[in-house]
Parts: sequence; structure tokens; C-alpha cells
Amino acid sequence: MLKLILFGPPSAGKGTQAQRLSKKYGIPQIATGDLLRAAVAKKTPLGMKIGSYLDSGRLCPDDLIVQLMFDRISKSDCANGYIMDGFPRTMGQVEELDKVTEIDLVLNIVVELEALVERAVGRRICGECAAVYHVKFSPPKAEGVCDECGSALVQRDDDKEHTVRNRLRIYTEETAPLVEHFRRKGNIIDIDGSAGIDGVFDQMVEAIERREG
Ligand SMILES: [Zn+2]
Repeated sequence: MLKLILFGPPSAGKGTQAQRLSKKYGIPQIATGDLLRAAVAKKTPLGMKIGSYLDSGRLCPDDLIVQLMFDRISKSDCANGYIMDGFPRTMGQVEELDKVTEIDLVLNIVVELEALVERAVGRRICGECAAVYHVKFSPPKAEGVCDECGSALVQRDDDKEHTVRNRLRIYTEETAPLVEHFRRKGNIIDIDGSAGIDGVFDQMVEAIERREG
């Protein structure tokens, strides 16, 4: 049994790591965002309730998210464990989770925020063929022009500095109390997010195996 939670700021590669862990340990990755969208699309009674919040732009209440999550982890494919990605997000959700199960390990990807800002803000996308560049780390041969098709490169609104900083600030504020909670419980491990995709994965596997050892 291996019950994991992944924490990490947006664009720190959390989804990729969750996929790799899922494959290695044969446990499902449960991304709250996907779960919410699926429930809404299937129009389950719970999904309809959640949809009414999302449609009106209101924050979905904790008890609905928790119920959705608990339904999911009671499915048979979770018998050997799971990886939660995007849950819990509030102290209310943490308290509900603590009532029903004991999480084995929280893997907390820690990245210098300025590095994430630099990575996002320098990203350029080809408007035609969607090729991805970075002004510093993988620049095109001619500035502002796609190597593949010669079209103009653009910066997505999501990558504008103000938007990126805002997203990171929200993440930091939201996650800090949760990280504190799991630190008190002693089941959180910080992972150096600057180590590259393989380096981050190796650290995670090592943390898991030390825990199980
Ligand atoms: Zn192109």
C-alpha cells in the first residue's frame, strides 16, 4: 500500500512525475482537475452540483471536493494506493482526509520561484505549428521567428510575468499551511525541483523506498 500526495508549484513538472510514479508503482494518479471535469461531463448527481459552482465561477466547497475524492479512492484500482495531485488544497480538505486515511508520504517539490518565473516568461510559442521555444534556453535561429515554419512566435497570456507571479503567489499562500501540517506529522519530504526530470524522479523513488524499507 502506497498512498502519496504530490505538492509542487505550477509548471514544476508535477504531472510528469506523477505519471512516472504511477507507472513504476502500479498505482493510479488522481488529478483533482481531471476528476472534477470528468464528474461534470458525466453529469453524476455530484458532478451536477460541482458544475453549478464552476459555471458560476464560484469556488467549489470542500465537502463536494472531498466527497468526489473519497469516491475515487474507494475504487478497486486504488487498493494498492494512489498518487494525489491537486488535493488536498485547503486545511478543511486535510482535516477530512485525516479522518478517513493515513497518507504514507507527501512529496514536496521545492523550486526557486524566480527560476519558474524565468522559465515561463521566456517561453515563446509558434502561432502556426505550436513549436515551443525559450528566449534563453532554446532560442530560435532568428529572433521571434519559428525555425520549423517561419511564422511569428508569440507569448501566451498564461506566460506573462504578472500572471505567472500571481499563480505562484496563490500556490505558495495556499500550500504553506498544508506543508506545515504534514511537517508536524513528519511524513513530508522536500524534493529538489532544480534537479531535472530524471533527478527529481530519482529523489522521489529514494524517498519512497526509504519509507518502505
Ligand atoms: Zn512554426
